[in-house]
Amino acid sequence: GLVLGIESSCDETAAALVTSDRTILAQRIASQDAEHAPYGGVVPEIAARAHAERLAPMIAAVLEDAGKTLDDCDAIAATAGPGLIGGVMVGLVSAKALAMASDTPLIAVNHLEGHALSPRLADPTLDFPYLLLLASGGHCQILLVEGVGRHTRLATTIDDALGEAFDKSAKVLGLGYPGGPAVERLAKEGDATKVPLPRPLLGSKEPHFSFAGLKSAVLRAKEAGIYADADIAASFQAAALDCVLDRLKFSWDRIDRVPALVVAGGVAANQAIRAGLERFAEERAMRFVAPPPKLCTDNAAMIAWAGCERLALDGFRPDPLDIAARPRWPLDPAAEPARGAGV
Ligand code: ATP
Ligand code: MG
Ligand code: FE
Repeated sequence: GLVLGIESSCDETAAALVTSDRTILAQRIASQDAEHAPYGGVVPEIAARAHAERLAPMIAAVLEDAGKTLDDCDAIAATAGPGLIGGVMVGLVSAKALAMASDTPLIAVNHLEGHALSPRLADPTLDFPYLLLLASGGHCQILLVEGVGRHTRLATTIDDALGEAFDKSAKVLGLGYPGGPAVERLAKEGDATKVPLPRPLLGSKEPHFSFAGLKSAVLRAKEAGIYADADIAASFQAAALDCVLDRLKFSWDRIDRVPALVVAGGVAANQAIRAGLERFAEERAMRFVAPPPKLCTDNAAMIAWAGCERLALDGFRPDPLDIAARPRWPLDPAAEPARGAGV
């Protein structure tokens, strides 16, 4: 099968064509970093407008890159949530219009499931079930992924997402937006033992992450004026990794053995985090799977791939053309929503 994927839930406008045998035939992505940088974060109105301007020509360009037409597509998959609702609507409405015009099945993809399944696009040998750390700009969760649409949430954040903590720390250090890659770069030059920072909820029996206190501690460290920025960055990254590993251990203790530990979402692009996760997996005789960094941050190939996965299910049914865009859409609806940022 061939699936056109559309992504517009945050600040990347993206389109891609992916086949069921895991070939990315074409892929384009337009980041809005420059538009949002002056505000230190994503401005929803600016994002929606930028998506609306860029998406249609981008879809045409991706089809042309691959030498395909809509008639060659077996489905059109678009992010239908969760995300900034204006942007999600732009992508979903575009997908609906194309689906209707070309009489092609529509697949409404949960953006988080796009992230969650992206490692299977990168690695054909990755089978269900797997333990997943999904760490992005809006989410920080540990999930047991047992199949397409089959996710059990084992932990989630009660305040900030991990990517958000990276972004806010970057802001404190004057590194601009988006902050994750900048903090990682600076951390390489720093000493992670120099700045004492808290590890919130370490050892907690609750299925939660918390990064708000860590973020505030970074601010206090900066204001103290006695630490080098690189040492703050390195110490922050080390503290964040300790929290992640502790919560992974918490989750791992509560499930049956699984063969693989997988990481996805924008923070999965971080080499230090990846290295820590790899050690964790090794110690527990799990494989470690991480998609290439370009598949970790928002992209349309993962949305197209989630469409391919749906298409391959027994009894596949397209989504109705009146399906709604959703600002919130938990991957595990059974999980009690946590306080604050958790969906
Ligand atoms: P969500 O997927 O939760 O809706 P999002 O789509 O904005 O949020 P992604 O594009 O998946 O998130 O990830 C972006 C986040 O990843 C940002 O917070 C960014 O700082 C972070 N990030 C990207 N690269 C790195 C890195 N190398 N190290 C740490 N964080 C990173
Ligand atoms: Mg982005
Ligand atoms: Fe994302």
